Amino acid sequence: MNNFTYHRAPDTAAALQLFSDATAGNASPRFLAGGTNLVDLMREGVENHDSLVDISRLPLAEITELADGGLRIGAMVRNSHLAANALVRQRFPLLSQAILMGASAQLRNMATTGGNLMQRTRCYYFYDTASHCNKRSPGAGCDAIHGYNRIHAILGTSSQCIATHPSDMCVALAALDATVNVSGASGDRSIPISEFHRLPGDTPHIDTNLRAGELITSVDLPASSSGLTSQYRKVRDRASYAFALVSVGAALRLKNGVIDDIRIALGGVAHKPWRASSAERMLRGAAPTRENFVAAAAAELAPAVARSGNAFKIELAKRTITAVLAELAAGLEGGGR
Ligand code: SF4
Repeated sequence: MNNFTYHRAPDTAAALQLFSDATAGNASPRFLAGGTNLVDLMREGVENHDSLVDISRLPLAEITELADGGLRIGAMVRNSHLAANALVRQRFPLLSQAILMGASAQLRNMATTGGNLMQRTRCYYFYDTASHCNKRSPGAGCDAIHGYNRIHAILGTSSQCIATHPSDMCVALAALDATVNVSGASGDRSIPISEFHRLPGDTPHIDTNLRAGELITSVDLPASSSGLTSQYRKVRDRASYAFALVSVGAALRLKNGVIDDIRIALGGVAHKPWRASSAERMLRGAAPTRENFVAAAAAELAPAVARSGNAFKIELAKRTITAVLAELAAGLEGGGR
């Protein structure tokens, strides 16, 4: 690990100023929250920053109700607290379920909401500084494309990068239409979760659409996403402390025997949480039958591109989508919700 300066910010304004000052001094600063990913990256020499602004003490650790019935989650709310919060469990159980399937209890106690959004891919080659990796070193090449790519992406890939986004929490946020609130030198703005993370394209070293120096302050969950029957299913190589090969976060509401509202987001298949918009379009207003679920899953995965080691993910994703939706629909039958 290289030497770096360290400053602890007492509030958001101070954090932005410290970051700005470091940038003006030609430093390469980063915000440090729980540190569960950033510290590893710096220890391994994957990222080299000469200035850290500690934001872990910012007063952004509350979960509050919004006037419309939604929730605002402070960026410093720890993953464990978020998953256990009574309002989250009652209104947005999909989020709680997804978080509890990620990492370990110790990591969830440290990891923050904002940090979870910012975590980087777990591509092996990204962490191995002897490998060629466009995400770590733009223009260096991608050893995963012709290498060991069992965990890599099948949707939205590019010739530059086939990495996946590792978060479970973000898959649930995608299904729930969350909004990410940020502050920066030019003021505050809100970014729909669907636009927060990026596909790799020819700039795989840029993971998000945050502008330089912007800080995540909170995440909003809209009331329109509450009260849906939902399920998060994560398929992985072992039962705990493993990243998803494929995950599905889905929420469903039936009305008069047809699908009135449906949300499907996939993890482990793309560079960002993948909202299954094609499948949703096919199913909205349709009967909740297995045949319809199979057809919608097939349509969503139609553009998938497999590499030498990850073709199994295409069928796995189709089957997991179908299984989750069929289970949700069976639970709702007769309920009319
Ligand atoms: Fe790097 Fe992306 Fe290729 Fe992995 S898949 S080696 S992160 S460029």
